[in-house]
Amino acid sequence: MVKQLPCVPMGCSACCRETTMPLTISEAKRLSRRTGMTVETFTWEHNGVLTLLNDETTRACVFLLTASSDPSAEGMCSVYEVRPEGCRKYPIVLNPKDEAILDDGCPHRSQFPQPNDDDAIALLNLEERLMRK
Ligand code: SF4
Ligand code: SF4
Repeated sequence: MVKQLPCVPMGCSACCRETTMPLTISEAKRLSRRTGMTVETFTWEHNGVLTLLNDETTRACVFLLTASSDPSAEGMCSVYEVRPEGCRKYPIVLNPKDEAILDDGCPHRSQFPQPNDDDAIALLNLEERLMRK
């Protein structure tokens, strides 16, 4: 049986706040088609990589449905079905040795399965696509 991930049961949206989540051009275009928003209204370019924009009031990703800027407040992704791959993989990230690890920024990381080599390969492939213009 697949273990239930803690995000919803814990009411957590920490990784959607003050986000620096990158996304590919094709992911941005798909989000644009689904939401009717122009890419410029939900992204910015950070170190040459397209990145999700935070709302000025909530300081959370513009797609997070939340009433609060409190990092521990609840929130729900309004584009869950088409969220970028980086959001799907998180809290799995790459360390400087390109190994897949659970990110310290996730307060419930101990409840996730340990990442493996397949996760590392998926993130390395994503990294390559993020750099393509
Ligand atoms: S991945 Fe971690 S930080 Fe993000 S919502 Fe789930 S528990 Fe919270
Ligand atoms: S797209 Fe959704 S899952 Fe990704 S950071 Fe924004 S609100 Fe969170």
